[in-house]
Amino acid sequence: MTQIWVGLGSNLDNPIAQIKDAIVAFQSSEFFTCVQASSLYGSSPMGPQDQPDYVNAVLGARTSLEPLAVLDALQAIENDQGRERKRHWGERTLDLDLLLYGDEMIENPRLTVPHVGIADRDFVLKPLLEVAGDIEIPNKGLVSECLQQCQQFDLHRLDLGETA
Ligand code: ATP
Ligand code: CA
Ligand code: CA
Repeated sequence: MTQIWVGLGSNLDNPIAQIKDAIVAFQSSEFFTCVQASSLYGSSPMGPQDQPDYVNAVLGARTSLEPLAVLDALQAIENDQGRERKRHWGERTLDLDLLLYGDEMIENPRLTVPHVGIADRDFVLKPLLEVAGDIEIPNKGLVSECLQQCQQFDLHRLDLGETA
């Protein structure tokens, strides 16, 4: 079994419900166990600014799936929740990024791990720190160190965010 960390984001069709539904999808999946989710956070959009604010969270799980099979499983959950791919960094019902797969570094046409944006985004690092603790990100350093240097997106913890 490998420990994975997944970044969740949504800014369409009731984002809080989208994130909660995605967490339930992991909990009900035969592929994942020991699912643990962070609080929910609000953030401003990274790409085009003419889109709604985001709701973000990070989730940990254990899996026996190989990395590409994890990506397939994440994309299946995205598709189940009506993900449509339009403009780059545009609005979406659900985005699931594989942040970390154990301590592996993976370079594949479909999959880069650690995720390319992991060290640059407070809406990933802050919930990751909350749920994973101050772990080492391969080739990047401690989560807390990355958090001190990353870009900021008006991140704030949502009051209703306790999802465990
Ligand atoms: P970003 O990756 O910068 O957060 P995004 O999440 O909006 O942007 P998507 O359109 O969701 O990007 O994904 C584009 C492609 O990224 C996917 O089809 C997938 O093959 C690839 N990809 C590469 N590495 C990863 C990863 N670690 N997790 C999820 N997708 C990845
Ligand atoms: Ca993303
Ligand atoms: Ca993505």
